[in-house]
Amino acid sequence: MTSTSTEAPIRVRIAPSPTGDPHVGTAYIGLLNYIYARQRGGKFILRIEDTDRTRFVPASEQMIFDSLRWLGLGWDEGPDVGGPFGPYRQSERTEIYREHADILLANSTAYRCFCTPEEIEEIRKQQIAAKLPPRYPGTCRHLTKAQIAENLAAGKSYTIRLAVPPHKGDLTSSTTFCDELRGNITFEHNNVDDQVLMKSDGFPTYHLANVVDDHLMQITDVIRAEEWISSTPKHVLLYKAFGWEIPRFWHMPLLRNLDKSKISKRKNPVSLIYYRDSGYLPEAIINFLGLMGGGMPGDINNGTEQFTLAEMVEHFVFTNIRLGGPVFDLTKLKWLNGEYLRKLSPEDFFHQVRTRVFGDEYLRQIASLMQTRIETLTQFGDLTSFFFSDNVVPSQETFLPKKRTLEETLAFAQDQLAVLEATEWTHEALEPALKKLGEEKTWSVKENFMLLRAILTGSTMSPPLLESMVVFGKARSLDRVRRFLDAQKKLATQRK
Ligand code: GLU
Repeated sequence: MTSTSTEAPIRVRIAPSPTGDPHVGTAYIGLLNYIYARQRGGKFILRIEDTDRTRFVPASEQMIFDSLRWLGLGWDEGPDVGGPFGPYRQSERTEIYREHADILLANSTAYRCFCTPEEIEEIRKQQIAAKLPPRYPGTCRHLTKAQIAENLAAGKSYTIRLAVPPHKGDLTSSTTFCDELRGNITFEHNNVDDQVLMKSDGFPTYHLANVVDDHLMQITDVIRAEEWISSTPKHVLLYKAFGWEIPRFWHMPLLRNLDKSKISKRKNPVSLIYYRDSGYLPEAIINFLGLMGGGMPGDINNGTEQFTLAEMVEHFVFTNIRLGGPVFDLTKLKWLNGEYLRKLSPEDFFHQVRTRVFGDEYLRQIASLMQTRIETLTQFGDLTSFFFSDNVVPSQETFLPKKRTLEETLAFAQDQLAVLEATEWTHEALEPALKKLGEEKTWSVKENFMLLRAILTGSTMSPPLLESMVVFGKARSLDRVRRFLDAQKKLATQRK
């Protein structure tokens, strides 16, 4: 990459969608964008991509802010800090996207599609049956002005689609773009769908909003995960349709589970809240993420693989990033976290324990569950130890209901996990959701709650379960159930 003094000042962004707990992948991409901006005296922008209202989780945005700040990845412009290119929340920019969709309709690089969802579904089914990739066949692409006017007058609802340049027989047209880590990548247009840009409810899809915002926010470098490579030809076509300059694209390797599949909560905790609540230090997580995919020279700090964020800004080389999937190895992260714990002064270590394990607010909430349940103060520890430990292993006598087999109990615990994942973490939401599951599977309330109590607390006795779960937190509770199920699966394979 060449940089000249006349080149536009560097501006990069992360654009997370507030659809749940903030993801370690967001922190990884956030870290890389942060380093890139800081190395080049540029600006790092946080944009919230909340156009998909069906997946919107209200608490998620604040969790994204909190966890990125906790990691030390502050931004220069964003919804909460403002900036000259706002608003930085896509839901507040709807009018901008509508105006831009109109530009594309006017220059015929997009068209109105009046096909109904049922018609689209029918086409999709036929294509799947014929082993063809599901793709819009362009039915509405050639409607005449009169037909369009007629449909509009009849009040028919429509989406707006990108008119991907046509392709015929061998004369396929294609789009090529440069990925800074991979070189040129070409997509034949017969592999690119006429992407919906505006939905029938008048809201944009990710593709339109993302390109319009990257342009208007003067983003020079799009640094994002490689799962977006297949969207990039659509984005490039959009830049061309608007007549805009195309930013540089850097697609970063996806974090992987140990088995090389894309990182997922089934195999690794992926929530940053989990790592915060489970006693990891932000410095260790940042260091660990900095090791993913390379980029840091191997000899830094005598090859200890330990370095700070400031050292990353000083030494990180983007073109040294390796494209083979970096493995998010929890054992390594734990080791690194231990190293960072040992670097603390005794006083700082004590402070971490005092605030992160036995924080005042946490203790106050637990104490309020205990006052009516103990006779001496020291019994406090007997009933609450599960709040402070990492590893809880209930014995089979503890978790297995008398009249149930191991198999059906584990299947039910798996169902409980699915319900917990999908439920808002409040007493009011959790209780009916768990009870409904019990009714569906004919598990009594007692069996249902005793099983969950055993998994979460390791015991048949605890302060009230739902209140305890709310205090303990969603991320750690889910992780405990997942680890229980994993451990039981391992035991089952050993028995075979
Ligand atoms: N909203 C997308 C996400 O959630 C942004 C992808 C991009 O950076 O273009 O990851």
